[in-house]
Amino acid sequence: MNTYDRFDVLFDSGKGVYVWSRDGRVFLDFSSGIAVNALGHCHPALVRTIKRQAEKLWHCSNLYWTQPQIELAELLSKNSIGGRVFFVNSGAEAIETAIKLARKYGRLKSEDKYKILSAFNSFHGRTMGALTATGQIKYQEKFKPLLEGFEYFELNSVESLKAKFSKQVCGVILEPVQGEGGIFLANKEFLKTLRKLCDEHGALLIFDEVQCGMGRTGKLFAYQHFDVEPDVLIVAKGLGGGFPIGAVVAKSRADVFEPGDHGSTFGGNPLACAVATTVMKQLLNDGFLMRVTRMGQFLERSLMNLQKEFPSKIEQVRGIGLMWGIQLKKEISANNFARACLENGLLLAPAGKNTIRLLPPLIVQKKHIKQAVEILRQTLQKVGEKV
Ligand SMILES: *Cc1c(COP(=O)(O)O)cnc(C)c1O
Repeated sequence: MNTYDRFDVLFDSGKGVYVWSRDGRVFLDFSSGIAVNALGHCHPALVRTIKRQAEKLWHCSNLYWTQPQIELAELLSKNSIGGRVFFVNSGAEAIETAIKLARKYGRLKSEDKYKILSAFNSFHGRTMGALTATGQIKYQEKFKPLLEGFEYFELNSVESLKAKFSKQVCGVILEPVQGEGGIFLANKEFLKTLRKLCDEHGALLIFDEVQCGMGRTGKLFAYQHFDVEPDVLIVAKGLGGGFPIGAVVAKSRADVFEPGDHGSTFGGNPLACAVATTVMKQLLNDGFLMRVTRMGQFLERSLMNLQKEFPSKIEQVRGIGLMWGIQLKKEISANNFARACLENGLLLAPAGKNTIRLLPPLIVQKKHIKQAVEILRQTLQKVGEKV
């Protein structure tokens, strides 16, 4: 269907941080399939795992146990907030699961405890529940009526958050770092207040780490930068390194589902879980996340220098780890800019109206960052001529 304004290129193969089009052009991939290919393209460990598991067992439904699902659940739980895990196939599906968890959690306390809060400018996915949680009118307006019982607050505004809080709130959904909205970080004080308000009002704190989780910020999960733990953690995108899988981790207070409440046919199939287990293990290898942090710092310095070089074209540079946004001046469209970069051999992901996202694979090296920044520089020079 006509859902994407696609770039004019047909991709054929990939290796590491590079992809090749069928007409033989090579591209440096700093979009990673939108923060999905955490280990780059066709990482040998993932290829090995998928081949091995493909010859063993692909799917058998959640009526039965499989070893890869148990192993992945344990890895996720032990390395995040503890508690239990529900597996799905995408970010949106994980959000739907969390919405149902929060609603049931509220219902168990009181009939009118059903409200869910989320932030303006957030992005939580395209299904009706996730779309309702997404605080952006442009995504919602054509699909009304939305779900009942959702309200929105301004990110990092304690005042706006407090105004929406009451005993009726059963859950708050938040990206610690907004991705699709243009790379905006929550601040620590705000998150601490949010945690406190959730505790005072008996609401679940749900962090959507679909984009900022899985090592993207230099820690395994973004919340680990802020010293604030959620009750429910949502992971997808990078989790499968390119194979579709998502997960919801819930601490014991939030673990309220019973048999019959929820389910998924494909969720947690052994093929997806085996691949995601290998991704997790790579990220947990000694020094891996430290390298992400170091590369992130190098990228940050390079982008700050670009901003100094092009003050009339770059409005602001924001980010953390290997998740960066360049907000262009408002007369420059992010889409056109990304198109121009693609012509010059660099893949980027537009976000919002005039921000472009850099989401390189976590295995990126200094030389790739230098190459990307050089392409950005050339493109920025030309963009000026047209304006
Ligand atoms: C991409 C994204 C989603 C939706 O994930 P899908 O797999 O596309 O359904 C949800 N939340 C955040 C923060 C995302 O970046």
